[in-house]
Amino acid sequence: TYSLDGKRVFVAGHRGMVGAAIVERLKSENCAEILTAGRAELNLINQSDVDRWMNDQKPDAVIVAAAKVGGIFANDAYPADFLYDNLMIEANLIHAAYKTNVEKLLFLGSSCIYPKFADQPITEDALLTGALEPTNEWYAIAKIAGIKLCQAYRRQHDLDFISAMPTNLYGPNDNFDLKNSHVIPALIRKALAAKDAGETGIEVWGTGTPRREFLHVHDCADALVFLLKNYSGHEHVNVGYGEDIPIGEIASLICDIVGLPGPLKFDTSKPDGTPRKLMSADKLRAMGWKPSISLRDGLEGTIDWFLKNQDAAR
Ligand code: GDP
Repeated sequence: TYSLDGKRVFVAGHRGMVGAAIVERLKSENCAEILTAGRAELNLINQSDVDRWMNDQKPDAVIVAAAKVGGIFANDAYPADFLYDNLMIEANLIHAAYKTNVEKLLFLGSSCIYPKFADQPITEDALLTGALEPTNEWYAIAKIAGIKLCQAYRRQHDLDFISAMPTNLYGPNDNFDLKNSHVIPALIRKALAAKDAGETGIEVWGTGTPRREFLHVHDCADALVFLLKNYSGHEHVNVGYGEDIPIGEIASLICDIVGLPGPLKFDTSKPDGTPRKLMSADKLRAMGWKPSISLRDGLEGTIDWFLKNQDAAR
């Protein structure tokens, strides 16, 4: 195990949903210091900037939560940005961590690294066994390269660099933009707007039958700190909830919490996307970690957060 007591931990990407939750979670550890850097202070795409910053700060541990992210629309419109920015961010940080003798590094990816037609639930060893989903392959290729960088530096330089792959996340600091956001923030916004307008239901894209797995970002941050302390292996680790749910049920749950009696309207002119995307949680469960925030509690907290932070929300 790796003790965080008295350590200086750098969270790259602390303004993002995951990075912000990791910073909060680390406050309950005995770290000496949690290091963060704003975009104006440190451009992670620029190698000399990253080298200089890492040399000045010399963190003991690094969490790579910084990435260029976005939904299906953004991925398709900006393939060069998704590939280049993510490759540069991870290569700069991982190589600088090697040169400055970082003791432990945790790299974050996502479930889109897996083949489009992987068997469900998706186990870690499905990586690189088939073709990717074409709409997000730019992002996926960069994230697969990040996993391989950690494995290569572990093998060649004997460094304790590990990777974790979270499932779909939701919670505070999510992107609530209707066009570019993921399904949960979009449905929350629609439900609150419907309530304000005195309507009884909301419009849901697609048929409502695709299934998705959702993990609250606070559970995710807890799992990541657990891995930082307890895992040191070559293979990446899935960070999931362990169950999935049809989109129609998520929509009903959100309407129920907001106080909308329904019915839902399904707009089948909109795409369903992949029918199912559930990751196997077995590896992390076997290490002794499981999520503690139920979907209903997590959604209630997220709706509260959005109501309080509406004006500042992205
Ligand atoms: P995906 O997991 O990569 O497919 O990304 P999303 O979170 O955007 O979509 C998940 C599922 O929710 C898809 O089947 C969407 O069609 C469905 N969905 C239903 N209503 C909405 C909505 O208002 N916004 C989004 N983004 N997805 C929706």
